[in-house]
Amino acid sequence: MRSIRIGSLLGIPLLINPGWFIIAGLTLWLLAFQFFPAVLPDSGRTLHIVMAVLSAVIFFASIVAHELAHSVVAKYYGIPVRSISLFIFGGVAHITREAARPFNEILMAAAGPLMSLVLGVLFLVAWVIADSSGPFGVVLAFSGFMNIILGIFNLLPAFPMDGGRVFRALVWLAVGDYNRATSVAAWVGRGFAWFIIFLGGLAALGINVGIASNVLGGIWLVLIGLFLETGARRSLTQLTYIEELNRFSLTDLMITDPPVAEADRSLESLARGVLEINPRVCYFVEDEGTLAGILSAYELREIPESLWQQMTAREAMVPREQLRPVSPSTSVSDALLEMENEGLLHAPVVDEGRVVGVIGRERIVNVLRQAGLVTG
Ligand SMILES: [Zn+2]
Repeated sequence: MRSIRIGSLLGIPLLINPGWFIIAGLTLWLLAFQFFPAVLPDSGRTLHIVMAVLSAVIFFASIVAHELAHSVVAKYYGIPVRSISLFIFGGVAHITREAARPFNEILMAAAGPLMSLVLGVLFLVAWVIADSSGPFGVVLAFSGFMNIILGIFNLLPAFPMDGGRVFRALVWLAVGDYNRATSVAAWVGRGFAWFIIFLGGLAALGINVGIASNVLGGIWLVLIGLFLETGARRSLTQLTYIEELNRFSLTDLMITDPPVAEADRSLESLARGVLEINPRVCYFVEDEGTLAGILSAYELREIPESLWQQMTAREAMVPREQLRPVSPSTSVSDALLEMENEGLLHAPVVDEGRVVGVIGRERIVNVLRQAGLVTG
């Protein structure tokens, strides 16, 4: 399901997954017609609904604040944040790169839960100060406890959740190898997930495991466990990709002498008869001897053949300003990630200011395909 953009905060787009609305609706209903009537049976229905909406809005803002805290630390370390999205199980800040040092990673991962815990304490303090057991007090207490739960849940050592990331950074500090640390953290995360699933199974059988003691609580735990398991397994898969890719260097995979086209050449002369022979052709487009952009078979195919005669390479190319040059020492996996983040198919390889080749996303994905790691 495609996420919907509802606005932006500190320049970061805020996205909502449609599935989230279902959970939000369910939560609202539970609060308005089950939870608040049970806590304050003497208040009217209208008041329960107002309380539910207020609590839901506060909780929504709290999740955004949690993700924003991750994002602010990431931005501080110069790591771009593509978006913050909210989905069924909460939120996620799409941080485009990994931290360069364990300490940065710890701060980045811990910032979110810390924000939740601080908000939780603030709401609880406000509740105590307000000294109210009426509707206002109940909403304050509810918001306080929800934020505390959010903070603690995210601190569970289940990679790729926040607590798991902190744990990975600690392992990273200890063993000095980022990928090995990811592997250890992901396996611990899987073990933890299966433990939660096991507890859920016991609870579903009616055994009191402390955090749940009935079928509904049991199913809920199993779902959370499966969610954590999937996340950890995906991280391990990603790791095998990274390890396979980094058996190569960019210079192994790049094309060192792509055909060069003058910027004023017509597409007709660059595409007709060429695409059939070389369906992955990729031109360096030059303007007065310097690289002006990259024009590949992909861009050529995007343009209807009827326009080939009148359009020039300059008009169809991906201009230099949009390209993200990589250096020959960039790891293959980082180059792929960078291209995926920027939505680019090619990147010029630049060594000390000199263009030495071009790397294509297709070429990198082919490595994974040949290793049987991806299909299609
Ligand atoms: Zn978080």
